[in-house]
Amino acid sequence: MQNGQQQKIPFHLPSIGEEEIAEVVEVLRSGWLTTGPKVRQFEEAFAAYVGAKHAIAVNSCTAALHLALDAVGVGAGDEVILPTYTFAATGEVVTYLGARPVLADCRPDTFNIDAATVAPLITPKTKAIIPVHIAGQACDMDPIMELAREHHLHVIEDAAHALHATYKGKMIGAIGDLTAFSFYATKPITTGEGGMIATMRDDHAARMKRMSLHGLSGDAWNRYSDKGHWYYEILDFGFKYNLTDLAAALGIQQLRRSDDFYKRRREIARMYSESFSGLETCVIPQEADYGTHAWHLYILQLNLPALASGRDEVIRSLGEKGIGTSVHFIPLHLHPVYQRSFGYHQGAFPNAEHIFERAVSLPIYPAMTNADIGRVIESVHDTLHTLRR
Ligand SMILES: *Cc1c(COP(=O)(O)O)cnc(C)c1O
Repeated sequence: MQNGQQQKIPFHLPSIGEEEIAEVVEVLRSGWLTTGPKVRQFEEAFAAYVGAKHAIAVNSCTAALHLALDAVGVGAGDEVILPTYTFAATGEVVTYLGARPVLADCRPDTFNIDAATVAPLITPKTKAIIPVHIAGQACDMDPIMELAREHHLHVIEDAAHALHATYKGKMIGAIGDLTAFSFYATKPITTGEGGMIATMRDDHAARMKRMSLHGLSGDAWNRYSDKGHWYYEILDFGFKYNLTDLAAALGIQQLRRSDDFYKRRREIARMYSESFSGLETCVIPQEADYGTHAWHLYILQLNLPALASGRDEVIRSLGEKGIGTSVHFIPLHLHPVYQRSFGYHQGAFPNAEHIFERAVSLPIYPAMTNADIGRVIESVHDTLHTLRR
């Protein structure tokens, strides 16, 4: 660093362009801010993009997962199997319905659950499985779907990371009955906060649409418009999960640019992997041969025996060089509420713990310049070289 402080490279920056700004301004001028024509347009574009029959826009992926569990009838006393290696949302939604999250360990190569880790956990109370496509790497879905069919279980995919991931030639969103996506600020496309549920089933789509807006009958959001009517019926005790037109306006433009975003993430991943593959101090993430990785996250695994210090020191050193990083994920079973409520303890899921202790997520987003990517690569080399045993 010759000329004083170099600019920091944050762990994530969203790509918001003039198109997004113009589209949001148009909504502001239209006088219709909440769920309306833009949400409709976003839903149709999204369903077409992933190849699903229906897409229902909601205000988070957490809401999407909750509505999906409700749609398949998960209730008090049921069990739902999900990975311990995931974000808080995947497990908490199960408790919203009075059901119990049953945690599964993950595979060391893909970081995902598979049929082998799920099968021993199935009991007569099991109602559903939530595979999470971690980092944008699809789970091996065929064996999971087969296991589910055999035991009459529902499969709800947590695709918060997986917009653009494919499995055996199909996009995630067109595989299972119910797939939840996130448009949180750091996700592959963003609406600030937002989510989407893709489904092939008319009955699930109708139920989720109704439950996302207070359980009201029909196209209740339309009741204030000229075409609409003042009359509605409350058919169920629902939720307030609808997306706004303001957010959908962002989403429409982000979706249009999503192929370009993906290409750039893929390019960054390739540059990282080419540069780090020869290092003895780390292990690069792999892409499973059954599909394409969405590269939402680039999770580098440290080879701890080759290093004189641990993961936290690597993160500190990268931070000093101006490189923002993150850690995905602290396994659910290591958190106080899971230990207190369900008796989970450290050591219960060795693969997830092994991955967590070695994980460093590097910046990977389309707003990065080639110079940024070069600096991340150089800093990782420097840090791992300095800290090697
Ligand atoms: C971000 C995330 C969610 C939740 O998404 P929100 O849109 O913030 O509710 C769910 N699952 C995983 C794996 C996530 O990373």
